[in-house]
Amino acid sequence: MNHSINDGFESISPALLQPSICAGVQVRTALFEQVIDGLSALITSLRDPETEILRFPPVMSRDQLVKSGYLHSFPHLLGCVSSLQGDESQVRGSLERSNGDWIAGLSATELVLSPAACYPLYPLVATRKPVPGSGLLFDVASYCFRREATHEVDRLQAFRMREYVCIGTSEQSLDFRARWIPKAEELARRLGLPCRIAPASDPFFGRAGRLAAMIQVEQALKFELLIPVHSQDQPTACMSFNYHRDHFGTTWDLQTDTGETAHTACVAFGLDRLALALFATHGLDLQVWPATARNALSV
Ligand code: AMP
Ligand code: ZN
Repeated sequence: MNHSINDGFESISPALLQPSICAGVQVRTALFEQVIDGLSALITSLRDPETEILRFPPVMSRDQLVKSGYLHSFPHLLGCVSSLQGDESQVRGSLERSNGDWIAGLSATELVLSPAACYPLYPLVATRKPVPGSGLLFDVASYCFRREATHEVDRLQAFRMREYVCIGTSEQSLDFRARWIPKAEELARRLGLPCRIAPASDPFFGRAGRLAAMIQVEQALKFELLIPVHSQDQPTACMSFNYHRDHFGTTWDLQTDTGETAHTACVAFGLDRLALALFATHGLDLQVWPATARNALSV
């Protein structure tokens, strides 16, 4: 039975998310954060040994994101950081010239808002030694931004993403992903969340993008774990399981120690969506949540 957080943006309970002036940009309450903290600790408890932990800020290099192909594939979702640049007199000059329209004086900086937690990882690893034969595992996280066109309860512009990433051979990357799908289903089961795994595609831009999305499904590059949040008929992607083949390996010249181009895979947890799925499924009162979920989350 789903609860009433799921009737649209206007009706989301202020016990979870307080209204903010922009759709999809929410203020989280203590109740919501308690569950986010529980989820983060639960995900940590499932981490593979020998995993390097990195926490990224919500901004990353614009050049690196463009080189990763993001502008080509998802220009509609990208958010750039702009500022009033120059010394004090130049900044004052653009404010005065703008006659109240200070936006006109903005120029793009070298930063963009990170659209996913793993993008900054690959160029960082490329600055190190070749990837060892056993492969590399990472635990990364950041606040992410996507300029979403619609704002359902669970489609935020700013949201938290936690990811486990594998960099290694194609076999290691595919094994990593294959191992994580049942682990994620088990995690959902412990949380009392009804879920299913489905093939998926990313929201590529334009007509060429529709072809890219078809190829992604055809080649089984992306799967999602779906849980009903705002609708039973259209369950929400709360986690994704992605195999990038050698895309990032080629882009960043990531090599294995045998001199081959590295392959990569990532498992992404949408923390805000998982929290919303829990509240939508079990209600706002943590005391009445199933014992397995309360134990798993320590709430
Ligand atoms: P993706 O890179 O699109 O597979 O996203 C990874 C995960 O981030 C998804 O499975 C969602 O749980 C979460 N996510 C993606 N977009 C949004 C959004 N607009 N609002 C909230 N969570 C999101
Ligand atoms: Zn990723």
